[in-house]
Amino acid sequence: MIDFHCHVDLYPKARAVHAEALRRNVFTWLVTTSPKAFQATSSVLGHHESMLISPGLHPEIAGDRFQELDILIELIDSANAVGEVGLDGSKRYASSYLKQKQVFATAVKRCHDVGGRALSIHSRQAVPDVLTLLREFPDHGIPVFHWFTGTVSELKAASAQGCWFSIGPAAFNSAAGKALAKKLPKEKVVPESDGPFAQLDDQPVMPWDFEITASLLSKAWAMPLIDVQYQLISNAKVLLDQMGRTTAAASLI
Ligand SMILES: [Zn+2]
Repeated sequence: MIDFHCHVDLYPKARAVHAEALRRNVFTWLVTTSPKAFQATSSVLGHHESMLISPGLHPEIAGDRFQELDILIELIDSANAVGEVGLDGSKRYASSYLKQKQVFATAVKRCHDVGGRALSIHSRQAVPDVLTLLREFPDHGIPVFHWFTGTVSELKAASAQGCWFSIGPAAFNSAAGKALAKKLPKEKVVPESDGPFAQLDDQPVMPWDFEITASLLSKAWAMPLIDVQYQLISNAKVLLDQMGRTTAAASLI
């Protein structure tokens, strides 16, 4: 199994979830929500070939943790990937939006300056600003929009900019989400869980719930399940190769 966006460190029984993900998944991208959380998680869980732990500064807490931006920038230098970062334009976080922009712009610029990084990006109600910042620093690397909830024209704009999309079961909980899933560029979609935040039937989605995502996409795309599984796995292989995760890429297919 594969999971391109998961908060493994935030599950109630994080160590058990981590162990199970190592057992069941070829690749899991553990995105952290703050630089300090990244440091703590990395030292507690240690290094494992199939688990990518990346430093981030989640837009929902970018206001409170603004002072950690310097640490994030330092961590980006030695990291293979960055996330969770991005912008949240919803009302609830309106008061921190300027700080969010400063954090995200600084992080994207650093990725650009150091030759590019894979980025797991949060873009709720902020897709145009996210795309503008990515364009401003064109050598930022590989942008992966996680749980994309923009409009169809924003989706087209993101695709035109070469973005990837990671999607999980919870994205299908709403009618709008189901409609948007139909329009995703099939060759640029990879699976994610976004657990434990993302829930399905009041249970957190797990890092190995790939089959659920595949079956929901099979309905959305009106494609046989086996073809969707094949598509997702070959997409993952391409993206992992681009990210330099050649061992994980080689073990797929
Ligand atoms: Zn997330």
